[in-house]
Amino acid sequence: MKIHEYQAKDVLKKFGVVVPRSVPCFSVDEAVKAAQSLGGKVWVVKAQIHAGGRGKGGGVKLAKSIDEVKTLSGQILGMQLVTHQTGPLGQKVRRLLIEEGADIKKELYVGMVVDRSTQRVTLMASSEGGMDIEEVAEKTPELIHKVFIDPGTGLKDAEADAVAAKIGIPAASIAQARVNLQALYKAFMETDCSLAEINPLILTGDGRVVALDAKVNFDDNALFRHPELVALRDLDEEDPAEIEASKFGLSYISLDGNIGCLVNGAGLAMATMDVIKLYGAEPANFLDVGGGADAQKVTEAFKIMLKNPGLKAILVNIFGGIMKCDTIAEGVITASRAVQLKVPLVVRMKGTNEDLGKKMLAESGLPIISANNMAEAAQKVVAAVKGAN
Ligand code: ADP
Ligand code: MG
Repeated sequence: MKIHEYQAKDVLKKFGVVVPRSVPCFSVDEAVKAAQSLGGKVWVVKAQIHAGGRGKGGGVKLAKSIDEVKTLSGQILGMQLVTHQTGPLGQKVRRLLIEEGADIKKELYVGMVVDRSTQRVTLMASSEGGMDIEEVAEKTPELIHKVFIDPGTGLKDAEADAVAAKIGIPAASIAQARVNLQALYKAFMETDCSLAEINPLILTGDGRVVALDAKVNFDDNALFRHPELVALRDLDEEDPAEIEASKFGLSYISLDGNIGCLVNGAGLAMATMDVIKLYGAEPANFLDVGGGADAQKVTEAFKIMLKNPGLKAILVNIFGGIMKCDTIAEGVITASRAVQLKVPLVVRMKGTNEDLGKKMLAESGLPIISANNMAEAAQKVVAAVKGAN
């Protein structure tokens, strides 16, 4: 689950990360009042959307008077902000953060993720903050320093200090950097993050270390432990199809292609998308109906896929293990009738009660195209789509 910058800063601050003073706002009036209450001479008006690259896209602007705060807030609030992470249509700005202007001497990068190969939370840090960290990683990987954190000890003082020195924090500010890094680690662990990133972490003119931006993602599988974090979810920022799917316990991700996929198991779902691409077409979605899908779940999955106006065909690919093929066949038949399916439907099923499932599909009277293996299924669904074009 993603949250906004201002929410991430709130979370990180509770664990001791130093952040600038700021006020989240939903209107121009609120923005003006926020700037007045913050005081000072320079403010930053920041669009709050669940995507990075806002600065380059025109969603982070410096204001040198209250009047300017007003003008900029009016421009940014409601704009369709396009960044390299939003896609070409951009994202509508509904919330702002009014923040005190910082005296930036240097912009650094620090982030934490779970490293699968070492099975540890990994701190990544770089002197090259403020810009695209992916580009730094690709072109100058030697500028990214990593610490694989031992879960038994947490981030040790010596590790934090060494990495702070490597990214160019002067001796007098190392202790502050350590406080921030250890607070970031504590926040990461205690809120079950999958990603926690501060870009930029800055060194100010007077030697302070401050988190100027914050991006935090939580592990969805741990959200049941954190109702207070679930409350931070902003549905305006999420794909409506994905929200709908999550209500029914379906793992669904919208994609750009035109072949809807309904699969059980994430691995098989990935393989199904690969095979569709192998035969020259593109999947419209990733969909894992999970192990315990019943007729109702399959019907809901069909409905969600069919809401996509670009959908040209559906491929159902099921391995009947715990889930039996006849149960899925029943679901597919019920769903096809319930939604009055108009696009070609290819079904491949293997495993428990396969013969019974296939018989049910054949006798349903529905125009279901049956396939015996994945390659055949993919070829048939791709042919159906090409025929429809
Ligand atoms: P994004 O990563 O989405 O572009 P950031 O919050 O990192 O958004 O802001 C982009 C840039 O704007 C920062 O790298 C920094 O140079 C500047 N900036 C952000 N917040 C402030 C602030 N409070 N004071 C001064 N400059 C800021
Ligand atoms: Mg940033």
